[in-house]
Amino acid sequence: MILPDNSSNYLPGARVLVLGGGLAGLAVALDLAGRGHQVAVVERRRYPFHRVCGEYVSNEVLPYLRRLGADPAALAPAAIRRFGLSSPAGRTLASPLDMGGFGVSRYQLDEFLYQKALAKGVEFIFATVADVAFDAATDQHRVALADGRQLLAPLVLGTYGKRSALDRQLARPFFSQRSPYLGVKHHLRLPGFARDVIELHNFREGYAGISAIEDDKLCFCYLTTRTNLKAAGGSIAAMEHKVLARNPLLADILRNSERLYAQPEVINEISFAPKQPVEQHLLMVGDAAGLITPLCGNGMAMAIHGAALAAPLADRFLRGELPRPALEAAYGRAWQRQFGTRLRVGRAVQGLFGGPVLSELVVGSLRYWPAAVRTLMRQTHGAEFG
Ligand SMILES: Cc1cc2nc3c(=O)[nH]c(=O)nc-3n(C[C@H](O)[C@H](O)[C@H](O)COP(=O)(O)OP(=O)(O)OC[C@H]3O[C@@H](n4cnc5c(N)ncnc54)[C@H](O)[C@@H]3O)c2cc1C
Repeated sequence: MILPDNSSNYLPGARVLVLGGGLAGLAVALDLAGRGHQVAVVERRRYPFHRVCGEYVSNEVLPYLRRLGADPAALAPAAIRRFGLSSPAGRTLASPLDMGGFGVSRYQLDEFLYQKALAKGVEFIFATVADVAFDAATDQHRVALADGRQLLAPLVLGTYGKRSALDRQLARPFFSQRSPYLGVKHHLRLPGFARDVIELHNFREGYAGISAIEDDKLCFCYLTTRTNLKAAGGSIAAMEHKVLARNPLLADILRNSERLYAQPEVINEISFAPKQPVEQHLLMVGDAAGLITPLCGNGMAMAIHGAALAAPLADRFLRGELPRPALEAAYGRAWQRQFGTRLRVGRAVQGLFGGPVLSELVVGSLRYWPAAVRTLMRQTHGAEFG
């Protein structure tokens, strides 16, 4: 549905609209503003805020963020160089991380990029996008906000994350298929936990990541299914006690840590189904184009890398050097080339850790096969870009 045409509602505005101000949206806005374009980001929440996310960022993003003038070193993140994995029964393996990464909360990272974008002249409109439609007659998009205002722009990027009512408006097939996955995040303090390691602990129908972020805090974030939550009477605390704590390493973490929020952050209906990078003339970037399983710890890098792919093409389009069909075809190709394999391998790896027996077998075999662990990591990560 698009709101009735009422020209008095149109906001004067930017040539580029970015729908959603997460990592993909903030990075693409910064990049395009740096190339001299007038950019507005529409974001429904006010910064800073917490999100469900494991908060481990692959170092592949560093050259690009530095080029955008947003070096995350300013946030004093944790430098993460080692990886540990445990099976539901607590069997472990350890491996170095070839490229490594850094740990910083989304609360800090998104606020940091928001401030950088403001300083570069990006306009922020704090509102929910209700609808977007392309008008072929004027070669423009019409974006309707939930408060009744409307925006017009020749270029619109969909950076609104993994799932939004906008996906229903765009009739994207994944939206109508239910997904069993939910995500939960806590910030913890756990004295003695090494700041240079990311650990991944499996449990029945789920896995949890834990790694350091800024200050002396840890991010503890897990993906599991509604079945586990239902079996615990709908209580997150009971599920952690009854299901996660069967893994002895998770039991230790849960028993010995101090929780830093009154309530954890929770999201549901997390879908890993394939999506299209271009929909009804919108360039989709980040999770809106495709979500890699969190097991791989690469979704944030992909969101930022997607911005690096979209911005130079969008720049040429806005300068009149690339017609719209060529822009869409080039972005779709670049996106598939960069992320297609990573997403397929991610889905396959997630399948390996589905059931307890298979998880035991996989961890049991991989501990004697360190080269395979590193190969899997390379397949689910990209090279540095920028
Ligand atoms: C359990 C879990 C753990 C994870 N752990 C990691 C990890 O450790 N490392 C990693 O790299 N990745 C991880 N990820 C993935 C990572 O969080 C995402 O890939 C990343 O946040 C994608 O960024 P984005 O900009 O596409 O979307 P988001 O960061 O989700 O941003 C989307 C923005 O759009 C806004 N929005 C949505 N709809 C509207 C609307 N209608 N109007 C206005 N605004 C709107 C939202 O408020 C939001 O701010 C994890 C994911 C999950 C589920």
